[in-house]
Amino acid sequence: MSRRDEVLAEMGFSPVWKLRTPTARAEEPVRPQGSWIEIKQAVPACTACGLHKGRTQTVFGVGDEDADWLLVGEAPGAEEDRLGEPFVGQAGRLLDNMLGAIDLARGENVYICNVLKCRPPGNRNPEPDEVAKCTPYLLRQIELIEPKLIVAMGRFAAQTLLNTDASIASLRGRVHRYAGRPLIVTYHPAYLLRNLPDKSKAWADLVFARKTMASL
Ligand code: SF4
Repeated sequence: MSRRDEVLAEMGFSPVWKLRTPTARAEEPVRPQGSWIEIKQAVPACTACGLHKGRTQTVFGVGDEDADWLLVGEAPGAEEDRLGEPFVGQAGRLLDNMLGAIDLARGENVYICNVLKCRPPGNRNPEPDEVAKCTPYLLRQIELIEPKLIVAMGRFAAQTLLNTDASIASLRGRVHRYAGRPLIVTYHPAYLLRNLPDKSKAWADLVFARKTMASL
């Protein structure tokens, strides 16, 4: 049994609920099995990694489940953990403003979620094992949404979906592919709040994403 199947089995999913990994997607056909209802029930009950001990609640994702746009961030922060919704607070307002600038709005043809569904304590970086255990939920969300375009916001989203350890700086500015879908890398809004000069780069990334979407 592969490590991913072991993780899925630990999480209570049937082995037939195969999820495509970044490394395996070229070889394995997509075999979606779990429904929205199943994963929406599974995530709040999940104890697959230690983060469940400190969470107030899980943060599953929000938006249009048939969206063309999927935005993926890193992990819930304190406000997200409290409210159960991704990208709230200052970073969320920045994201909403950036979406508005390219004529998009949260929940309208846009779905937003994170790699991790539980808050790391003190907003520390996710550990590799936490990412490995939580990623199956994200991959299943992608398969169910079938977005036309994915925007990976921040290092953990980009590295997880592209199966790379390359930096954000080296991944920006070109169209990557996740399971055949275009994927564009940009900075995480929380990073932008601490590094204001990079906001113009994130703006350029979103304009690039909008152009890419228009060309599909
Ligand atoms: Fe489960 Fe993900 Fe929460 Fe870990 S972070 S307990 S894998 S839902």
